[in-house]
Amino acid sequence: MADLRHRRIAQLIAPYRVEAGRRVRLPKDFPTDAPGKFGKADAKHAKEVLESSVSLLAEYQERLAAQDTYGVLVILQAIDAAGKDGTVRHVMSGVNPQGVEVSSFKVPSAEEQDHDYLWRYARRLPSRGSIGIFNRSYYEEVLVVRVHPEFLAAERLPPASKRGDVWRRRYREINDWERYLTDQGFRIVKLFLHVSRDEQRRRFLDRIEEPEKNWKFSAADVKERARWDDYQKAFSDMLSHTSTAWAPWYVVPADDKPYARLIAAGAIAHALVEINPRYPTVGEEARAALEEARDELLAEGHDRAGTDAGGEPDAGGEPDAGAASADPPSGGREHGRHHDKGSGKRRGRHSQQH
Ligand code: ATP
Ligand code: MG
Repeated sequence: MADLRHRRIAQLIAPYRVEAGRRVRLPKDFPTDAPGKFGKADAKHAKEVLESSVSLLAEYQERLAAQDTYGVLVILQAIDAAGKDGTVRHVMSGVNPQGVEVSSFKVPSAEEQDHDYLWRYARRLPSRGSIGIFNRSYYEEVLVVRVHPEFLAAERLPPASKRGDVWRRRYREINDWERYLTDQGFRIVKLFLHVSRDEQRRRFLDRIEEPEKNWKFSAADVKERARWDDYQKAFSDMLSHTSTAWAPWYVVPADDKPYARLIAAGAIAHALVEINPRYPTVGEEARAALEEARDELLAEGHDRAGTDAGGEPDAGGEPDAGAASADPPSGGREHGRHHDKGSGKRRGRHSQQH
């Protein structure tokens, strides 16, 4: 079942991966819209496949956390109004919030500018067993900083770091850093949301015209739109130089929101399936300790049943309920949970109770 889902997802996302060394020119090299069969008319189908990816994500995230060896870093880059926030919301809708941390990066603070350019991102990296999402990332250092040289000036680099091709050097540094992180067990999933100029215009207009979207509108975004071509060039160069075998970029068509979410969820699910995290297996000694604990707990149940309910310890588990309610609240709950492991039949009843 998981295999079939995985095969479908792998097929779906393959056309959007940037192969290492490929020279990309945007906007023309990748579509911004969904292919016909997934177009707005077939949102229902997209929704079904998205649900399947989201459930796969939830399943694998649990294993990732249990194994506690690998981590996943998801990077979202896009021009304004391409749908980064909505993507995060939908894609992570099914996962345990304890295992995910979202970090959004804005114009650097004075403290951040006092450090090397990767510093603030390094501080927000996910730990083993968890998923980190970067809403904007160190790639801004070769995007907005490239389009607006005043940001580079504010970084107060020594002369040697400004000589030669600053951007090529940064691509190399980023590639090396990502390789290092990958070697350390952190898988990096890079998603570039590719939206068309027309669609951005429509979304800005919506933000102005619909009162409940007014808060999202920023006049600065429209000003930034005037630099559209500069951004497309910076995106193209970034994709051409930083899509690597260990951390490839996906250019996600972002004009159709359900489809964009589908591809984004698919790329993350694909990475998790490739990591294939496994639940730790219990060694012989630990297994013996578990058995012993179970026997002890079961015996306790029988004893209590005897005292509390006045006998019939084998009468279908009813006395257990009495035992649980006689315990202090937390003790009672623990009691039930351990019992669940021992008896599949009892699980349903206990989980209904709690
Ligand atoms: P929203 O969807 O809420 O608008 P956003 O990510 O656009 O989300 P904003 O607060 O509007 O958030 O904008 C953040 C701004 O910070 C962007 O214009 C981005 O280009 C800028 N920024 C991010 N990283 C850097 C950086 N390293 N140097 C300079 N500017 C940066
Ligand atoms: Mg913004």
